[in-house]
Amino acid sequence: MRPLLQGSDRQGTPAGTPRPPLGGPHPTPNPTLTARRGAAAAMRSSGRAVGTGHARKIVCVGGGPGALYFAIAAKRRDAGLDITVIERDPPGATYGWGVGYGDDLLDHLYRNDPGSAEAVRAASALWQDQEVRRGEETVYLGRYGYSIARASLLDILTRRAAELGVDVQHRRKVDDLAEFAEADLIVACDGASSRVRQLHGDHFGTRLEVGRNPYIWLGTDKVFPRFTFAFEPTPAGWIWFYAYPSSAEISTCVVECAPETWRGLGLDTLDTADGVRLLEQVFVSALDGHTLLGRSRGEPARWQHFTEVRNATWCHDNVVLLGDAAHTTHYTLGSGTRLALLDAIELAHSLYTEAELPAALQAYDRRRRAALHPVQAAARTSMAWFEHLDHYLEQELVDFAYAMSVRQGAQAPWHYQLHRATQVPVLRRVRREANTGLRRYLALRRGERVLGAGSTTGRAATTAALAAPAGHQR
Ligand SMILES: Cc1cc2nc3c(=O)[nH]c(=O)nc-3n(C[C@H](O)[C@H](O)[C@H](O)COP(=O)(O)OP(=O)(O)OC[C@H]3O[C@@H](n4cnc5c(N)ncnc54)[C@H](O)[C@@H]3O)c2cc1C
Repeated sequence: MRPLLQGSDRQGTPAGTPRPPLGGPHPTPNPTLTARRGAAAAMRSSGRAVGTGHARKIVCVGGGPGALYFAIAAKRRDAGLDITVIERDPPGATYGWGVGYGDDLLDHLYRNDPGSAEAVRAASALWQDQEVRRGEETVYLGRYGYSIARASLLDILTRRAAELGVDVQHRRKVDDLAEFAEADLIVACDGASSRVRQLHGDHFGTRLEVGRNPYIWLGTDKVFPRFTFAFEPTPAGWIWFYAYPSSAEISTCVVECAPETWRGLGLDTLDTADGVRLLEQVFVSALDGHTLLGRSRGEPARWQHFTEVRNATWCHDNVVLLGDAAHTTHYTLGSGTRLALLDAIELAHSLYTEAELPAALQAYDRRRRAALHPVQAAARTSMAWFEHLDHYLEQELVDFAYAMSVRQGAQAPWHYQLHRATQVPVLRRVRREANTGLRRYLALRRGERVLGAGSTTGRAATTAALAAPAGHQR
């Protein structure tokens, strides 16, 4: 294996170079990159080699958010890298609908590449408050967050990667790695069923665990203003969805139930179109009569079982796992994309600061697996909570919603009092205002320009962003 970083005459650095169009000029310095460049300079002056002017070849298998963001983060640190991203699907085609995220991810994105961060923020919907419905009853949770259509996210990241000189190839499926013998590094970003991971047999120590409940990832033309959980009783048992806006016209809607309910309703035998019509009837009130959208990537969405992916190590020789190929976390945590992007940043950082490829991969493996541990544990708890829902549904709705909101761990007693207070409309408004203040402060702190002081609604931001070309859901 060739060392990846071996000379001292690095070509190009992220900071100080003119930004390409999507990057655009940005008023705030990039503290992370500045600090990292400082560390690199210190290592150079101490005689340790960092960076190189060689053409170093990196191939990313899979063109999801993890691969694209790794390519961006790596090129931002070293423009001389030769990076190819290989995706089996055509541009704009993707599975699933919107993905949710929080302020902490925006902070990371702004630090690493402000231009694409701004585009992501502009294309995202903001949701304020969560609503928990059981039949016709409703209670509230005082939270906010963002979500973005997966197709828009991929479009933004693909354009940005291409601007930075990454060779993004679509419609090319990777079946074996022989064709990449020249590559210094192969990054397996090909999702939870990673072909690259499988090609290495037992080397990664992969463990797969399949969840109990079936789920289906749908869209709906109802735009939910709040993140909404809706639980409906049926003769076959409870069925529920999680829905949140992902663009100005579309919300994401993930439907889940126990396997007994699934079979009892006949969802195991109906084709997707008929199953979706049945779900529209079950959720007619929660959806206000709107339709569910059951096609994604040009194909009917399918019922699936979540599979937790764990690996004992994320690197082997010159192959490294990233994102869902390395780990998955149950969708009720809403953090798989975030984790893939954080992996991407860490791998780019390790390659940039470590002098040898093995050391870089080991540093990445060590740091990210340590960070992932508690998140994956929380995701397992969250999945188990929804798998034992019947027990909690006997409670009053306000208590049920609270139990759901704290399912990952105990909270201080005042948290429960705050939750009860949130049910009073005037106090809910006060809490929302406090969240808005916090959100604006965080936006200002990271140098967000799209929203300035965060003065607009998700709908306005989304509408503005949708004026820009974006990939279409297929
Ligand atoms: C129902 C549901 C809801 C979710 N909601 C959220 C959420 O709200 N927030 C969040 O952060 N995350 C969410 N996630 C998780 C998120 O979708 C994933 O964690 C994220 O997409 C992982 O990114 P990735 O780049 O690692 O892999 P992927 O996005 O899976 O990308 C892998 C890519 O590799 C390509 N590929 C696969 N095999 C090959 C091959 N052999 N050759 C070439 N290309 C190949 C695929 O076509 C795909 O484009 C959710 C997941 C589910 C199932």
